[in-house]
Amino acid sequence: MKTTIFTLIIFTFTCFLSHSQFDNEEFRKQRERMLNLQIKARGIKDESVINSMRKVPRHLFVPRNRISEAYDDGPIPIGYGQTISQPYIVAYMTEVINPTKCKKVLEIGTGSGYHAAVIAQIVDSVYTVEIITELYKEAKDRLEKLGYKNIKIKNADGYYGWKEHAPYDAIVVTAAAEFVPPPLIEQLKEGGKMIIPVGSPFFTQTLVLIEKKDGKIYSKNLIPVRFVPFVRGK
Ligand code: SAH
Repeated sequence: MKTTIFTLIIFTFTCFLSHSQFDNEEFRKQRERMLNLQIKARGIKDESVINSMRKVPRHLFVPRNRISEAYDDGPIPIGYGQTISQPYIVAYMTEVINPTKCKKVLEIGTGSGYHAAVIAQIVDSVYTVEIITELYKEAKDRLEKLGYKNIKIKNADGYYGWKEHAPYDAIVVTAAAEFVPPPLIEQLKEGGKMIIPVGSPFFTQTLVLIEKKDGKIYSKNLIPVRFVPFVRGK
């Protein structure tokens, strides 16, 4: 009898936990609201980006105790001093690289894996690099469980990019660097675009768009942003 009650309690508890692991109507409504109030209202027009953010369950990329904030208009701490970027910034950076024209994209700063998932719905393959081992492991596990087979993830210093799979149609850097790492410029395809927050980690930085045309590098300052710092490996 005792064992039966115990089993029942464990079963109920597991059901409760696994329920919060999934998507449902309530979360879909919250995503639609996020798209209307934060993304479309601020001028994001690329349908591929909007559709992708409609699909990706952002609440499964934030810590359990923060699920209720998952669709709020801001970044959310994900541990180890890092954050998942504000939804609008994810949309903006993704729209800028013109994702429907991209096959292969490199992301530096996997964090939760959310931005990689948003891009992976649109392009053929995403390569993403994360320097913090714990976050790398968590994101790898999460992306595998959610079935993102076209995302490859590596635990390394993203300063060096991911040479084996270069060149990339686009490179998205999600941590603020003092300068654009030269290996990333090298790994950008001719005609490719890179989006990177540049500036001091203690101040507001600028989102910079880098383009490679006829072997020349062009850069354009876009909007002011606040990102966590780009750190260097030992
Ligand atoms: N794109 C992420 C947001 C990540 S925040 C998301 O969607 O959740 C920035 C991430 O960049 C952090 O996880 C940080 O650990 C990582 N990072 C900082 N410097 C790095 C470097 N040199 N190489 C790789 N990752 C780095």
